[in-house]
Amino acid sequence: MPAFKTLDDLGDVRGKRALVRVDLNVPMHDGAVSDDTRFRATLATVTELADKGAIVLLLAHFGRPRGEKRPDMSLSLVTRPYSAMLGRSVQFVPECDGEGVAQAIAVLRPGDVAILENTRFHAGEEKNDPALAASMAANGDFYVNDAFSAAHRAHASTEGLAHLLPAYAGRAMEKELKALEAALGNPERPVAAVVGGAKVSTKLDVLKHLVGKVDHLIIGGGMANTFLAARGVAIGKSLAERDLTGTAEEILEAADKANCTVHLPYDVVVAKEFAANPPSLRTCNVHEVAEDEMILDIGPAAVEALADALKTCRTLVWNGPLGAFETPPFDAATVALARTAAALTQEGGLVSVAGGGDTVAALNQAGVAGDFTFVSTAGGAFLEWMEGKDLPGVSALMR
Ligand code: ADP
Ligand code: MG
Repeated sequence: MPAFKTLDDLGDVRGKRALVRVDLNVPMHDGAVSDDTRFRATLATVTELADKGAIVLLLAHFGRPRGEKRPDMSLSLVTRPYSAMLGRSVQFVPECDGEGVAQAIAVLRPGDVAILENTRFHAGEEKNDPALAASMAANGDFYVNDAFSAAHRAHASTEGLAHLLPAYAGRAMEKELKALEAALGNPERPVAAVVGGAKVSTKLDVLKHLVGKVDHLIIGGGMANTFLAARGVAIGKSLAERDLTGTAEEILEAADKANCTVHLPYDVVVAKEFAANPPSLRTCNVHEVAEDEMILDIGPAAVEALADALKTCRTLVWNGPLGAFETPPFDAATVALARTAAALTQEGGLVSVAGGGDTVAALNQAGVAGDFTFVSTAGGAFLEWMEGKDLPGVSALMR
């Protein structure tokens, strides 16, 4: 991985203005923050910079105002809860660039923290407008990007700004990049990837990238059904994308050429209706699925075989649940394999990295998110990274 600078490379920052791109895009419910995970992710960087005497100016987006000033998407709404969590007073500045910011921050002292207004109130943000980036840069002595989750976008505050000021990765960004590097960039082999979830179509690029990178590709979830269909297995009324069986075949061939072992389930959990603990629930061989049944999870024999495969691996990257985990008992395979991966990680033999909205929910449901080496909450950016794409916000730090 090309080198990026971190907060360790900063000299004396006392009295210097730090423009810090963070992710404050928390979900709100009835005017209150309903999940402050993203707030907490910024703590290490903000606290460290403030303790070192920098004037910390937070840049972030909030919702999708599409270039308009929307009072319901003002970051003033989160300043108080953010301040409470940080345990320091936080100023709100009703602009994110230009002279207005300069005047507002003139009174700030070393160690003070301010939230600047939603960057997406300017149409130039999402267009990566150089004029907007320059107008933001005018209020900073250096730039820190701590928002991996926004790094797949080339926006003024995530990319443009990094070219105009000395640029550093924040602590959360640094941790994420190191974990991802250990998982797929330069991993210890053998490497296994679990790819699950509802559809092949949303993860085609992920599958294509992984076959050339990993030793074991474990396919589960609804997308396994499409692969089974491609292999000529009758899958009843399972969720599948029958128009993509050709693509699935191509992926299987590419895997073969790359010496990547693809694991498809040989037993499955099926039911006639999609409901919690349905009366028609049964486990069977993949070749015994009836026309009126659907596959909703992979079976226990498959899970055991996958656990054995994982025991031979040094690295695991996981995106997507193995079954319809929100509805019991179709969470069984995901929970069982997640616990195996967590135990192997804790024993010290496995580096495990997972990401994806539903994947994180499933790992929490299994009670093992904390036992993985790293769990990314970065949705879109995590998937693009799994597709092998360059993330503009990261590339801009790698100079
Ligand atoms: P992530 O958010 O982690 O990237 P996805 O959004 O791709 O994961 O997929 C998660 C969804 O896939 C879940 O809602 C889950 O219920 C669904 N799913 C998994 N397996 C099946 C299946 N066999 N049939 C129907 N839906 C499934
Ligand atoms: Mg999802």
